Amino acid sequence: MDQPQSNDPATPQTPTLLSLDANALRERFVALGAKPFHAKIAREAVLQRGALEYAQITSLPAALRDTLARELPILSSRETDRRQSRDATTKLLLAFPRGAGRDATVEVVHIPPKDRESRKGATLCVSTQVGCPVACPFCASGRNGLVRNLEAHEILEQFVRGRAIGELGRSVVMGIGEPLLNYANLSSALDVVHDEMGIGARKITVSTVGFPERLRRIAPTKPRFQLAISLHTPFQEQRDVLVPAMKGVSIEDVLEAGDDWFEHTGREVTYEYVLLSGENDSVEHAERLALRVAGRRCSVNLIPFNPVDESGYRRPTQLSVDRFHAILAERGVVATVRWSRGMEGDAACGQLRVRALPQRAS
Ligand code: SF4
Repeated sequence: MDQPQSNDPATPQTPTLLSLDANALRERFVALGAKPFHAKIAREAVLQRGALEYAQITSLPAALRDTLARELPILSSRETDRRQSRDATTKLLLAFPRGAGRDATVEVVHIPPKDRESRKGATLCVSTQVGCPVACPFCASGRNGLVRNLEAHEILEQFVRGRAIGELGRSVVMGIGEPLLNYANLSSALDVVHDEMGIGARKITVSTVGFPERLRRIAPTKPRFQLAISLHTPFQEQRDVLVPAMKGVSIEDVLEAGDDWFEHTGREVTYEYVLLSGENDSVEHAERLALRVAGRRCSVNLIPFNPVDESGYRRPTQLSVDRFHAILAERGVVATVRWSRGMEGDAACGQLRVRALPQRAS
């Protein structure tokens, strides 16, 4: 039977270079006849330079590269689709083994800096789950519920594939899934991203719908990322509809958990607010939101909705976005309007089969 090549998908049980920690990788390399330092060379090539195949790691002996390609895949996913929009935003569709011969797919988006000459590096938007159990009605990701959590190495793999496209400056964990419902795996992956890929805590944003108890458990550990909480409305009844998994969790409790987060970490929370025309973009909404967040150590990101075909929700007009923004500003709330990039490749906010993507400030 053919052995898997380095760019072939591994079966769920097959260890990959990325599923082994540094010690286990060294042992595996030695078992395959390599020197211990070869493991370090390979790991660095993958994590720091985005090598996706052993053939790219020319500092390893040729015979060893062949052995590794047969015996230890680097990745467990297959790239099944790649789209690029006019602004060079790239969306990858990755298929991970799901078991029983079936695939589990997630999307990853690589957004280059606006100024092509910039040395800042791209922003990478990664996913934490296959499907999403939160089921926000304006987001295509949650339509079919949760399929499964991604393993730590599967989250890490998205960073490596992003790095293979181009230098990474920052990352947003805003793709498919609710990060706090797969936190242990996310946290392990982010440790490697910090320590071995060199993306610092200020350059990583994790976006959640804000489970207060989970936030209170995590905050004292001083996690190395910025926190964004998707609020979407200041009215309890409406939040129960827009963020169904949070039904019964009071908005005030979420905001207080955000305050506690600042107390523990010293980092301000960003509240995300997807503006849906005729739903949550009224003057009354803006005024009530200002009342809720003014005086707190936080800021607000206003994200004009991008229509997803079947959702029935609409994009707000520029006028209503400006009005909403102005009301917040008048009341002393720091707010930014972010328009999505990558629309033509369906890689913009709410179009990833997903929700929030990093967007260009207007
Ligand atoms: S918006 Fe986020 S939390 Fe809501 S269903 Fe989509 S991926 Fe899940």
